[in-house]
This record gives sequence, structure tokens and C-alpha cells, in this order.
Amino acid sequence: MFDLKGHVAVVTGGNGGIGLGMARGLAGAGAWVVVAARNAEKSRAAVRELEKAGGQALALSVDVADEGSVNALLRATLDRCGRLDILVNNAGINIRKQPQDYTLAEWGQVLDTNLTSAFLTSRAAYPTMKAAGHGKIINIGSMMSIFGASFVPAYAASKGGIVQLTRSLAAAWAKDNIQVNAVLPGWIDTELTQRARREIAGLQDNVLRRTPAGRWGVIDDLAGIAVFLAARASDFITGAAIPVDGGFSIQG
Ligand code: NDP
Repeated sequence: MFDLKGHVAVVTGGNGGIGLGMARGLAGAGAWVVVAARNAEKSRAAVRELEKAGGQALALSVDVADEGSVNALLRATLDRCGRLDILVNNAGINIRKQPQDYTLAEWGQVLDTNLTSAFLTSRAAYPTMKAAGHGKIINIGSMMSIFGASFVPAYAASKGGIVQLTRSLAAAWAKDNIQVNAVLPGWIDTELTQRARREIAGLQDNVLRRTPAGRWGVIDDLAGIAVFLAARASDFITGAAIPVDGGFSIQG
């Protein structure tokens, strides 16, 4: 039910943080993982790590904010691996500023990287998944898919949008046996949130206080949900947005 042997998974931003946590899960379940990101050295290191753990992996370069680059990634995946079963839209950035201080370029950069990217990759993957008669798309949202905050106007808009895109893709492609779901991570210890902790006073302790599990998440906390949503076990689940947050989102 959770066996991914013979399946090919593209993980955008798979060279670090949450993407690497998910890549570890998918490779551990037998998938051939394409680590797709910009920093080639970091991607090669991730591939070495996955292979050392007994997995099969390959690094391919992509800028998810660029349509041509996304289309080239999908072509290269098919050329090198011969199939595409699982797409994880994980690459993301944040620019923390009050709304009145945002430039249009900054707004565009966040929306392009976090939201438009998922549309571009999913659209590029669709013909292959449709022809194969199955597919799994996993989009990464956030607690900011549910909540807002004064310092993340573009990020929250992009992550709210990810949930609505997920539902729309799920509705459109259910007939093709393609399941599209979103994962909403809570506060996970990565480079992204290490910077947030430097920029936002009190964040470290506020997250601890607010999270019923009483700890920050680690990237391996995301491995299980990746396997579940990529595997046959989740074939009747589509359009869902599943928090993986130690209870952060249910705390009153
Ligand atoms: P990291 O900063 O650790 O990782 C971000 C990843 O995205 C890197 O692998 C980076 O690789 C890649 N990336 C960024 N921009 C691009 C681009 N234009 N093209 C291709 N790849 C790109 O962050 P996290 O692991 O924390 O975040 C991963 C996802 O999880 C994001 O979508 C984030 O919003 C989301 N998230 C994180 C939470 C957390 O607490 N950490 C909570 C909720 C959601 P490279 O630089 O090599 O391109």
C-alpha cells in the first residue's frame, strides 16, 4: 500500500529543508527521486545523501519561477527516468515586510516562486500522468494558508492560493485518476525559519508555547505524509489540505 518501487518523483526544492525531508521519505519507500532546484552543488549533496541511505536519486536544475525552465525540467525527467508518477511542489521563498513596504517586484517574486510555479509544473506534468492513467501531486502550503500575519502579505496570499489551486486541479483531474493534495506544515526547523527566527523577535518561544506537541518540527516529520500522499494508500483522497503541525492550527 505504501510501496513506491518503480515510481519516479520530482521534488522541487528537494535539495534542503522540507523538500529534502519529503525526498528522504519517498526514496525510502522505493521511489526514484529527482531533486529539482537551482543550487547544483546543494542538489548533488542531497542526491549523495539519498543514495548513501540506499535510495535512487538524480539532480536536475530548475528555476520554478520560469516557465521555460519548468518545461525543460519535465522533459529532462522523462528523458532520464522514462516516467513521472509523483510531483511535489515544495520550492518556496518568503520576503518578510509590512504590506505598505512591498514593491511590485517583490510581490511578483514570491507569487511566482510559491504559487505560479505549482501551476506551471502541474500543467507540464499533466499529459504524462493522464497518459499513464495515474498521478500524485503534492503541493506545499503553510499555516499561512489558514492564518494571516502583518509581515507576510505575499507569502500568505501565495499559500492561500496553493490550497485553492489544489482543489481546482483535484476537481479537474480526478477523472484521470490524478490525486492532488496540499500539505500545510507548521513551524519546521529549516533555513527559511532560521532566518525568520532572526527577523521576528520572540518567534522561537511563541511557536513552542502555541504548538501542543511542544516542539518545532524537523524535516523528517514531513517524510510520512509525502509517502502517504504519493502512494496507493491515498487513492481516494483528493483536494485535501492536511496540516502537519504538531497541533498548531487547532490550538484555540
Ligand atoms: P528552505 O529555504 O530550506 O528550502 C527552500 C527550497 O526551495 C530550497 O531547496 C531552494 O533550493 C528551493 N527554491 C527556492 N526558490 C526556488 C526557485 N526559484 N526554483 C527552484 N527551487 C527554488 O525552506 P523550507 O524547506 O522551510 O520550505 C520549503 C517549502 O515549505 C516552502 O514552500 C515553504 O513555504 C514551505 N513551508 C515551510 C515551513 C517551515 O516552517 N519551514 C512552514 C510552512 C511551509 P535552491 O535555492 O537551490 O533553488
